[in-house]
Amino acid sequence: MKLVPGFIDAHVHIAGAGGEGGPASRTPEMQLSHMIEAGVTSVVGCLGTDGFTRSFESVLMKVKALRAEGVSAWMYAGAYQVPTPTLTGDVGRDITLIEEVIGVGEIALSDHRSSHPTLAELTKLTAHARVGGMLGGKAGIINIHMGDAKNPFKLLYEVADSSELSLKQFFPTHCNRNSYIFEDAKKYGKLSYIDLTASSYPYFPDIEIKPSAAVKALLEAGVPIGHITMTSDAFGSLPHFDEQGKLVKLEMGSLKSLHSEWTDMINNEGLTIPVALKTITENPAKILKLHTKGQIKSGFDADLLLLDNNLNLRSVMANGKWMMHESKLLVKGTYE
Ligand SMILES: [Zn+2]
Repeated sequence: MKLVPGFIDAHVHIAGAGGEGGPASRTPEMQLSHMIEAGVTSVVGCLGTDGFTRSFESVLMKVKALRAEGVSAWMYAGAYQVPTPTLTGDVGRDITLIEEVIGVGEIALSDHRSSHPTLAELTKLTAHARVGGMLGGKAGIINIHMGDAKNPFKLLYEVADSSELSLKQFFPTHCNRNSYIFEDAKKYGKLSYIDLTASSYPYFPDIEIKPSAAVKALLEAGVPIGHITMTSDAFGSLPHFDEQGKLVKLEMGSLKSLHSEWTDMINNEGLTIPVALKTITENPAKILKLHTKGQIKSGFDADLLLLDNNLNLRSVMANGKWMMHESKLLVKGTYE
């Protein structure tokens, strides 16, 4: 069997999200078994589109619940909107004082669901996240939801050009959502981080770049492997709007997409197991400053996966405890 580090999924709507199709389209909370059966031992939760009826507090309590159930969890302060939901009144103070909060997100740009922050608003938010990160010993990074509009990276370049802030303060996600954003991502990725979304594939196959193929294409374009990550966006709704902005389709993401796109990187794209692994282990751990995660190393947490010869997941250990053993789930969430 093969022993690999537990996967890190750095963008999951752990307390539910969505709702773009009305009240009945709100997505449910993630349960512990969703993580374990997907080989995910560390998760970063976020709010999403609905920063109006869903709260910072509900994500924070879900992080605490997951920790109590045995896995590792953190969260981003905020939601799509700017000004963004905070607990203490400022995202910098949230990151400094609340142990579970490691950054801000997901802040929506270039999307009809964004609150369209100005350059000044995004610069200020980024600066507060950075200082909060310094004071709290965290990443202080901003997870950015990239929408479908053209030139989605424009505002990020403008923040970096007009301030002392670096592009490394941003962690843009959904960069494989369409071909023109992906082309921009090949250039941006040479300078800073690019996160790909796994779970939206194959719901929009004519629009999206398949995540496993996107990793290969980024590497071929000269993007350093250390800049590339993949997250599931699980429990987010996956709405599709027509040109008039009318909702025509709604799906929900799953954490298992991470494992299946990872194996496709190896089986279909010819990447080696260690290179493909970095996108869901070592890279997110380094970018998000999760210092004891993402590698099998002395002094690191015992988050371990055992895989058979075909890379099927067989056993999962989180923080030194078997959660799944020989395909049998040993630990379930409190109400599962
Ligand atoms: Zn998003």
